[in-house]
Amino acid sequence: MIFVDEYRDRELVHSLSRQIHAESRRAIALMEVCGSHTMAIGRFGIRSLLPDHIRLISGPGCPVCVTEIGYIDHACAIAAEPDVIITTFGDLIRVPGSLSSLERERARGADIRVVQSSLDALHIARDNPDRKVVFLGIGFETTAPTTAAAIAQAARDGVSNIFVLSAHKVMKPAMMALVTGGVSLDGYICPGHVSIVTGAAMYKEIVAECGVGCVISGFEPADILLAILMLVRQAERGEHAVEIAYKRAVTWDGSRPAQRLMDDVFVPRDAVWRGLGTIPASGLGLATEYNRFDAEGAFTVDLPVAKEPAGCRCGEVLKGRCEPADCPLFGAPCTPENPVGACMVSSEGTCAAHYRYHNE
Ligand code: SF4
Repeated sequence: MIFVDEYRDRELVHSLSRQIHAESRRAIALMEVCGSHTMAIGRFGIRSLLPDHIRLISGPGCPVCVTEIGYIDHACAIAAEPDVIITTFGDLIRVPGSLSSLERERARGADIRVVQSSLDALHIARDNPDRKVVFLGIGFETTAPTTAAAIAQAARDGVSNIFVLSAHKVMKPAMMALVTGGVSLDGYICPGHVSIVTGAAMYKEIVAECGVGCVISGFEPADILLAILMLVRQAERGEHAVEIAYKRAVTWDGSRPAQRLMDDVFVPRDAVWRGLGTIPASGLGLATEYNRFDAEGAFTVDLPVAKEPAGCRCGEVLKGRCEPADCPLFGAPCTPENPVGACMVSSEGTCAAHYRYHNE
């Protein structure tokens, strides 16, 4: 059992903070690529425990935030088709598309249901054999195995009325694209949940080819500070390495069964990331054996030209090129209650985190 309380122990947290202050001499920039880390850093006031010369940047780690606006348009168009039930994680409903949102389509009468997992969508498909149930598959290696499990189960059980509109993505190509694309970093605070599935080995290539440190962190304040301390030590030694600061959950090889499920059901394909553009082999499409479950092939719909909200700087926020407060829309009119961009919609979005924890 994992006791999180010990990782919130005040003395441990302040001891790690003191060690970072004592050992950190050079200015460094570290990026977290996990929405849960973004929220935890805000919630626990991690920045206030660090020297000013350590800069924490929030990267593209929130699945809702990186989902391109064209995907929302596609989901809205399918939702308007007859006999369709859209099943989705809750945050996606409020993300504005070019002309509409799933929330608006639901108000117009579309059958859009919030589910906790892809397996809920499979249950809905079984209960509604005369309807087409479309699951909006978003997220990284954390959620992709569960989508794969639902589709594999549907194939085994002969359920033919479930489809996936896949915006699933994998983390490594995006982390490499950020650095090779010019974002200046000393290290990544690597995502704990993703790493449980992929294992730490995934980051070897990032370290070798991009020359940045990679330390996997948990989600409690002591976890995050330990990861930062390990990255500080790497920087002070002039080294880059893969290390695990979340050993109670992450191994070097990760979860082989989850990896096998993903490899069986999905194939890599190029994917568009909001703010980052198209990144080769960073998305997951359905493998040939499962392409009868692909919503892209099952529905022919007209799509509007994808158009980002005027003035929204989500793309720059996701690359760490600007802070949420630099966006002219931050706070007015863009708030968690009335989001203009995706980074304010999701509970794990960078703008939502800044709004919540910098305005309290
Ligand atoms: S404040 Fe709103 S509009 Fe501006 S970047 Fe963030 S989400 Fe986009």
